[in-house]
Amino acid sequence: MLAQKTLATRLFGLRNVILRGQALSASPARLQHSQVPQSGQPVLPARPETSSAKTLMDIGTRRIFSEDHDLFRQNVRRFFQEEVVPYHHEWEKAGQVSREVWEKAGEQGLLGTMIAEEHGGIGGDVLSAAVVWEEQMYANCTGPGFSLHSDIIMPYIVNYGSKEQIERFIPKMAAGKCISAIAMTEPGAGSDLQGVKTYAKRDGSDWILNGSKVFISNGWMADLVVVVAVTNRDAKSAAHGISLFLVENGTKGFHKGRKLDKIGLKAQDTAELFFEDVRLPADALLGELNKGFYYLMNELPQERLAVSGLAMASSEFMFEETRNYVLQRKAFGKTIAHLQTVQHKLAELKTDICVGRAFVDNCIQLHAEKRLDAATASMAKFWASDLQNKVATQCLQLHGGWGYMWEYPIAKAFVDSRVQPIYGGTNEIMKELIARTIVGQK
Ligand SMILES: Cc1cc2nc3c(=O)[nH]c(=O)nc-3n(C[C@H](O)[C@H](O)[C@H](O)COP(=O)(O)OP(=O)(O)OC[C@H]3O[C@@H](n4cnc5c(N)ncnc54)[C@H](O)[C@@H]3O)c2cc1C
Repeated sequence: MLAQKTLATRLFGLRNVILRGQALSASPARLQHSQVPQSGQPVLPARPETSSAKTLMDIGTRRIFSEDHDLFRQNVRRFFQEEVVPYHHEWEKAGQVSREVWEKAGEQGLLGTMIAEEHGGIGGDVLSAAVVWEEQMYANCTGPGFSLHSDIIMPYIVNYGSKEQIERFIPKMAAGKCISAIAMTEPGAGSDLQGVKTYAKRDGSDWILNGSKVFISNGWMADLVVVVAVTNRDAKSAAHGISLFLVENGTKGFHKGRKLDKIGLKAQDTAELFFEDVRLPADALLGELNKGFYYLMNELPQERLAVSGLAMASSEFMFEETRNYVLQRKAFGKTIAHLQTVQHKLAELKTDICVGRAFVDNCIQLHAEKRLDAATASMAKFWASDLQNKVATQCLQLHGGWGYMWEYPIAKAFVDSRVQPIYGGTNEIMKELIARTIVGQK
């Protein structure tokens, strides 16, 4: 706890805090002019928005962030360049990252960033969490499932867990010593979560859990899994009979299947999980009995916001990668950046990205103020992940045949993009949720 506090102070405390080493990229950019408002109070120079920054990944841009976030971003950028990029190729072959990188991320304050210090987290805000997911995409390294762990699973425990559950798991999770997963999807139930069959039956004060889950991110490495299970088959609707359980690795009857062979996210350990007569104590129940569906609906907007944030950052990365490529690739005696069709394509892509960035930044800000509603988060998720795939297709095209080669970063970004409209609720489901707020519940 003390170490966490020191870290939090280092990352989010006083301006003159000394961060390790130097920033990797250019120092924070600032517009040169400053204004004096009518009250006579001087204001800080405005931060450039993405559209007017030198590159779409510059540090020191976007009005939603502060200089403290910039300092944190420098640290996070360095972490991904030093601790993730050099090993990622190896992890892609292994189908998983190392345990070491989780612990190093914990030491650097990258896990549980927005979880309050009093609960054993880092005590940052949602903007700090956004810095971590953006920098991961700027490094083009999708292996570590940090965002799922920090921004999706830890909040379930903090928001619905007992004091004992919080104290038991959150500090270990923030330290990267307890890797987590959430198991909702089953072979027969994905979009239709109310169709889950995994069943927890009471046995005295214990529960006996049976069922299986599929496509579970961090599933192979997970030390702790939040499992969605039916607890009342006679409820007035399926949604009223679902609960969440905390299942620890090593519990008798809990087996992990193979790491799934995916077309992308090669270093992500996506797995099948099996539960055969798993005996769970009463305190494995997370939150109240039969409230699981309600909790899922409450937490999904944050997951959708994170997916949209990953999508925008990946789009920005792919754009910069492509800009650099066309500036050096020659055809017909000139760089292809000289071709007007290429220039117009880049102009269109940059405009699309900046429009999307403005909306997603607005959603991040709304979420920081606890005002982001489910439909707006769904708009961000569906629109940004569709944009990411459009950017991926067009940027790969601008790379020609080289874009199809695995050694080129755009190839990896292209395949990694494809899952974004599928998980976190498919984009078709997002449109359903948005439509309900337009024409009412069907
Ligand atoms: C790499 C990866 C990681 C994942 N990680 C996790 C994880 O950590 N935990 C977890 O629980 N799950 C995870 N998932 C599962 C993911 O959330 C589901 O795949 C997703 O919700 C879709 O469910 P499904 O695959 O069963 O597709 P289905 O629900 O069978 O859908 C098939 C198609 O039908 C469409 N469809 C379905 N219902 C409707 C409707 N009402 N209206 C319009 N169209 C509809 C869908 O949009 C889709 O196009 C992951 C999936 C992948 C691929």
